[in-house]
Amino acid sequence: MIVAIDGPAASGKGTIARRLARYFGLPHLDTGLLYRATARVLIDEGGRLDDVEAAVAAARGLALTEFDEEKLRGREMGEAASVVGAIPEVRAALIDMQRHFTQHPSGAVLDGRDIGTIIAPQADVKIFVTASPETRAQRRALELRGRGEAVNYPDILDDIRKRDERDAGRSAAPLKPAADAEILDTTDLDIEAAFRAALAIVEKKRG
Ligand code: C5P
Repeated sequence: MIVAIDGPAASGKGTIARRLARYFGLPHLDTGLLYRATARVLIDEGGRLDDVEAAVAAARGLALTEFDEEKLRGREMGEAASVVGAIPEVRAALIDMQRHFTQHPSGAVLDGRDIGTIIAPQADVKIFVTASPETRAQRRALELRGRGEAVNYPDILDDIRKRDERDAGRSAAPLKPAADAEILDTTDLDIEAAFRAALAIVEKKRG
């Protein structure tokens, strides 16, 4: 079974994907990490985020096993990832790795922005997770503070709005629900309720 979970930043898609993967015993790939890691390499090399050639080389050189999630989850990397994620050549360079992941014999759970539309249009279940920008900003601010980053809510809300605009407005694989995706709005749901709602969608699809 392939489960595609897409949605905007801090919608809850990552947590839902992780929990579904654990529940069904499937491997999970957070594809945002690929874009974050690509941006990280460019920044570490002192390069520019809009240097297409360097960005493609960074994307091609990624090794999933070497990801340092701690370094990739911060606010700066989320922003930088959305800049490199708008480069069509970078997206093309990351497609094979993601499609390969879907070919695990038992299936897989992937979360991102274009899983149901581009990476795995054949997915058995597609869920588009969303929530109001204000709720997402509150969640992201809490998460970043939990990581020790000094952030304030208005700045994070601004980040979220900018990122939504960039992700949905780009020409390459814009953020949008697949035609056959179920929309799951988590604005008024806590983590447990959001997971239960996602599980119900999966169970319904599996008949
Ligand atoms: O999901 P996360 O916040 O880690 O993603 C960071 C950025 O990476 C997103 O804002 C988006 O621009 C990009 N991304 C993408 N396609 C994906 C996953 C992430 O463009 N499948």
